[in-house]
Amino acid sequence: MTSQPLQHIVIAGGGSAGWMTAAMLASQLQGNVQITLVESDDIGTIGVGEATIPPIKRFNAMLGIDEHDFIRRCNGSIKLGIQFENWGAQGDSYFHQFGRFGADFDYIPFPYFYLKAQQEGLALPIQEFSAAWQLAKRNKFVPPNTDSRSLFSGYDYAYHFDAGRYALFLRDYAQQRGVVRIEGRIASVQQHAHNGFIKDLLLDDGQVISGDFFIDCTGLRSVLLGQTLGVGFTDWADYLLNDRAVAMQTSADPSLRPYTRSIAHHAGWQWRIPLQTRMGNGNVYSSRFMADDEAGTLLQQTVEGKPLTDPRFIRFQTGHRQQFWQKNCVAIGLSAGFLEPLESTSLHLIQRGIMRLVSLFPDSSCEQEDIDEYNATTQLEYEQIRDFIVLHYHATTRDDSPYWQYCKHMAIPDSLQQKLALFKRHGHLRIDDKALFKQDSWLAVLLGQHIVPAKAAPVTQFKTELDLQRTLAAMQRHLADTASTLTGHEQYLMQHCRFKPD
Ligand SMILES: Cc1cc2nc3c(=O)[nH]c(=O)nc-3n(C[C@H](O)[C@H](O)[C@H](O)COP(=O)(O)OP(=O)(O)OC[C@H]3O[C@@H](n4cnc5c(N)ncnc54)[C@H](O)[C@@H]3O)c2cc1C
Repeated sequence: MTSQPLQHIVIAGGGSAGWMTAAMLASQLQGNVQITLVESDDIGTIGVGEATIPPIKRFNAMLGIDEHDFIRRCNGSIKLGIQFENWGAQGDSYFHQFGRFGADFDYIPFPYFYLKAQQEGLALPIQEFSAAWQLAKRNKFVPPNTDSRSLFSGYDYAYHFDAGRYALFLRDYAQQRGVVRIEGRIASVQQHAHNGFIKDLLLDDGQVISGDFFIDCTGLRSVLLGQTLGVGFTDWADYLLNDRAVAMQTSADPSLRPYTRSIAHHAGWQWRIPLQTRMGNGNVYSSRFMADDEAGTLLQQTVEGKPLTDPRFIRFQTGHRQQFWQKNCVAIGLSAGFLEPLESTSLHLIQRGIMRLVSLFPDSSCEQEDIDEYNATTQLEYEQIRDFIVLHYHATTRDDSPYWQYCKHMAIPDSLQQKLALFKRHGHLRIDDKALFKQDSWLAVLLGQHIVPAKAAPVTQFKTELDLQRTLAAMQRHLADTASTLTGHEQYLMQHCRFKPD
């Protein structure tokens, strides 16, 4: 087959994945390739996915989106991290912050000294050295200081927003740049006889949508990659037990916290995601340990604020397609895989999938080397995130229910096992340069869930001139004192990007 530049890309599905893909391709391909998106109003979208992580700022910036305009239109709020409650033990609480802890001592990372000080009796939790936490616990927010010498330059932030509004926002963006939207249900998919490449989508109403490259954004159904091309699924249910969620919205939290809350219960956990005018709530659980009606009742009994919607039940499977790209079809979004929402990584994986596709952008022949590269890198990314999420479940002292007993004793991936063993010795963490979660994220969860190294890193012995306890106490005081003088989160939003319904 002779290869030609792609002429027509068809995106199947219009949830967050579909419209993020359409927007970025429209921006990057600049009208040189026709883009059509097919979505079904009858089927609708999954309707959750409202907490993000910092790289989304880069995605929006690449699209040229004005941050305040985006927050204003999507009912957004700021997210400085996640507060985990009842995870390491019942009654516990710790913060997984975005960004760094403290300041490094010359070239030696701060955490090594923190761990040493802790072994010498320092009682302060590590989050006290996070500017993000010092702001979060006071419901404050200002953008990070641009002066890299400031302790307030090392934190980061992301957003909470209304997923439906984000998809509509990106839909406007993409349509203004030439993306054609077709409403209709895909009834069947036709393939070329000679190579199995996808040829057309046939819609319920008889329309035929032809293309030379197809992006499967059909969510958990995975209509193209899974159902049509028959790509199998790698199931991670043994590591990640949760397979159900029930979601409902309630009235806004008057304190408008700049962080997500993740509250563990006896068979899973609950999320609380504060938007400007409402709260998103959900209960994520394992059907092996909790029945749907129990999960719904638990959610209704524990939410704060006035219910705005009825509980809505969602089923999912954790894991990923064995290949993410096959022939002329790549899956992006839930059609590619799902790792449960604990660390808000799904929209990020969508973003990564899109950017990887842009950098390996094919022509009509779809070279196998590019496909292999895409699949191998994406799989590694899923595995690295999986390990980090599994850590939250496994590193627990809880054994108050069969669910937590299973998590505590379950077999974990070798890659995680090795990481834990190394850390437990003297606090080293082996982190791949390209991994999403870096050292300080791992530390937040490890220490927050009571995994402590046996001894301090040997390198800390050489900084004998340092009065560690006094230096750390001064650092913590500076962070706390400065944070208390900064702007409130609500005040920041009202001043710059107050939600305006259309
Ligand atoms: C309980 C839960 C909580 C989550 N929380 C977070 C979070 O906090 N942060 C985060 O980053 N992610 C989260 N996620 C994941 C996030 O919701 C998804 O990654 C994101 O919404 C993208 O979904 P999607 O676009 O792939 O699928 P969907 O939203 O399901 O969209 C699928 C699209 O395909 C269309 N479609 C399907 N079949 C057909 C057909 N036959 N014909 C035509 N169109 C069709 C649908 O109409 C729809 O437009 C969560 C997921 C779950 C389950």
